[in-house]
Amino acid sequence: MYHHVKKLMYTVRVGSPDPRFGNMLLEQFGGANGELAAAMQYSIQGLNCDDMAIKDLLMDIGTEELSHLEVVGTLAKLHLKPMKKDAEAANQDPLIAIAGGGGVALCNSMGNSWTADYLKVTGELDVDLRSNIAAEARAKIVYERLIGFCDDVGTKEALQFLMTREITHLQAFMKALESLVKHPLSIGSIPPSPVIVDQFYNTSTGEGDHGEIDATGPWNEELEVIESPALQEFQVIKATPKEGRTTLDAKKPSAKKRNVSRG
Ligand code: MN
Ligand code: MN
Repeated sequence: MYHHVKKLMYTVRVGSPDPRFGNMLLEQFGGANGELAAAMQYSIQGLNCDDMAIKDLLMDIGTEELSHLEVVGTLAKLHLKPMKKDAEAANQDPLIAIAGGGGVALCNSMGNSWTADYLKVTGELDVDLRSNIAAEARAKIVYERLIGFCDDVGTKEALQFLMTREITHLQAFMKALESLVKHPLSIGSIPPSPVIVDQFYNTSTGEGDHGEIDATGPWNEELEVIESPALQEFQVIKATPKEGRTTLDAKKPSAKKRNVSRG
């Protein structure tokens, strides 16, 4: 059950309201990486979660995000307030001023309505935790950018608090994922096809006019690199988990015997 307490998690003080900044803040209110999206993503994952320890974590953080929503909403409301009477301020966001009466609405800075399509809920705990780690990283960088475009000291302090909490959450989700003790490449239960899993398809080649290169790095150094597969009529012959085969294997029978399965 939920209970509302008439205190904000962080005391909000806005010295000089800035309607333009109030509009930017809506990204963290009703935007794709905002607090409502975070609160709903973790809470709905929590409802689905059968691991009671991680369910507790999801509900703890999901509920904290609702408190963040309240702080961001209060900040936005204070910054948007001049729109109620001042025509110049109203010009900064006519949708909020005219349709919303100068108050906060569940939309992003461009006026697009919040949507549950923002949420990532797969019902596979490790997969959901990875989505949450990415969501926290996005929330952190959005707060950082907002701080960069903000002149009001009190607002900056509140945003610094909210940004900091996202790092705490990021760490909690990382530790929860680690606690599942799963190999990072082990997703679901069907194993990947041998041979194919260890191939890197070099499908973007040559050099570009702006310094673009054909690069080698840790992502492909240890794999069998297939150069320009389309140009050498490369095709996958069989992709069943036990025997992945490609036209290149047909030319090199020895490759079939490589044991490259991943647990
Ligand atoms: Mn948050
Ligand atoms: Mn968070």
